[in-house]
Formats: sequence, C-alpha cells, structure tokens
Amino acid sequence: MLRALALVLLAAAPARGNDVLAVVTTSTDLKALVEAVGGERVTVASLAPALHEPHAVDVTPGQLARLKSAALLVRVGLDHEPWLARVRATVHDPRFAPGGPGDVDLSRGIDLLQIETPKIKSEQGAHVHGFGNPHYWLDPANARPMTRTILEALARRSPDGREIFARNRARFLERLDASIARWTDIMAAHRGARVVVYHDSWPYFARRFGLVVVATVEPVPGVPPSPASLAALTTRMKDAGVRLLIVEPSAGHSIASRVAASSGARVITLVPSVGGDPEARDYLQLFELNVRRLTEALAGGR
Ligand SMILES: [Zn+2]
Repeated sequence: MLRALALVLLAAAPARGNDVLAVVTTSTDLKALVEAVGGERVTVASLAPALHEPHAVDVTPGQLARLKSAALLVRVGLDHEPWLARVRATVHDPRFAPGGPGDVDLSRGIDLLQIETPKIKSEQGAHVHGFGNPHYWLDPANARPMTRTILEALARRSPDGREIFARNRARFLERLDASIARWTDIMAAHRGARVVVYHDSWPYFARRFGLVVVATVEPVPGVPPSPASLAALTTRMKDAGVRLLIVEPSAGHSIASRVAASSGARVITLVPSVGGDPEARDYLQLFELNVRRLTEALAGGR
C-alpha cells in the first residue's frame, strides 16, 4: 500500500517540473537537436512546420503564448527566418531580441559557406542567403558545434543539469559519428557525382558527401527561374553530365520535371528537415533517408 502510494507520488512528482526548461525553436531540426541534448529536462516546440516556404510561416497565438513562457528561443540565424521579426515584434520580450539572454543563434560556431555572396539588400521578408548559406544543419557534422551551443545555453539556464546535458550530447554524438562514417562509406562510390539543386539548400550536405553542385534552378534563392535561365541551365546540365536534379517536397516539381526531361537528368526529392517525411523522424533518420534516396538514384544510372 505504502509502496503504491510512493509510486503514485513519484509519478505525480514532476516537482522536478521546475527543472524542465521550455524551449522554442524555429525549425523541427533544431527541435530534434535540443531534445537530443536536453532529454527529459526540456519540452520543445518548433514555430515552423517541417516543410514551409521561408516567407510563409504563420505563427499561431498558441505558439506565441508558448514563446512568451519559454526560457530559450533557438534559431538558425543569418537571414533564414525573416518571419521571426514579426514574431519578436508581437511578443515584445527583450529576452528574445537578437543577442538577448534567451536568444540562441546556432549559426555562431559554424564554418559558413558562401559568405562571399554579395550582400543583397535585405528586403522585408527576404531569405536570400545574404550572410552566408543558412542551410548548415544539412551537414550532419555541424550537429557537433550546434549541440555544443545548445548544451551551453541549456546549462546556463539550468546549471544543475549540465552533467546530464553533457552525457546526453556525448551519447548522441557517438551515434552521429558512427552514422556519418557509415554514410560516408556508402556515398564514397558516388564521389564527384554532379547534381543540380532547385533551391540552394544542399552545399553543406554536398561538401560532406562529395557531391558537386553544378547549378541551382532558382537564379537567386526564392526567385523562380525565367524561361531564358531554364534554357541556359538545361544546356549547362547536358554539358556537365548532370545526373540528378534535387528538389524538396515543398516546391518546384513541375519546373524540375521539365528541366529533367530536356536535360536527361532524373528528379530526386530530398527531405530538408526532420518530419518532412514520415521516415525522417529524428535528425539521424533525416540523413538515413536522404543518403538512401541518393544512393538508389545514383546506382540507377542515367
Ligand atoms: Zn535557403
């Protein structure tokens, strides 16, 4: 009887609830990584769904309320989240202002690509890769610096959790490293394969696994191609022997199919974020799925 009572008390005792940090992230990928480090000591919600247009994220009142009561806002940074300006203006909480005590910008500590891209005047609501390419979470090795920043942010808010966070992270990195070694092995047969991408989301992934991104279908991130640029692209793809045209589930399929048909490449859909496909349930499975789709397509020949 006493034992049963103790169990009930134990079950009802997230008086440890005080120790559970509420975290809001801007993407499902960051949510997955915060959960990997925070474990049971965090509850995490993503503001954006897995698949979305960078310009069209509508944040609900429920999500805003969640942010107001959160300890941390974890984001990709650079110009990846143009919609966040509106969220910040609405919530009006100095903790989440850029550089504020609750603001966690994971782009710090990342070796960024394309920082030489001329800074295009950042218009309202633009996601133009103006400060370097923001799709850095698509190199799985970048999860190491990203989770380091997450660990530090969580431990700052919850110092007694530091050891647990560090242990969780070490366990995650062990699985990550083993997976990266395996994916690299699998992809080795296709090193140097030439691809074209619809949106320029894949330079980090390509560098990690030895793919060569010959061109992008969008002339500038977020800008649809003109008929003239499509014609030039098709010629370039034929000349370069491009075998794959990479699209994402959310956009560009009809244009991509036309380009593929006239260039002789095949279209392949890769998933840019955790939850963007039922099989991409967490950060490791996201790469598991993409590596499998790529190797199947590349092994299939032209
Ligand atoms: Zn982008």
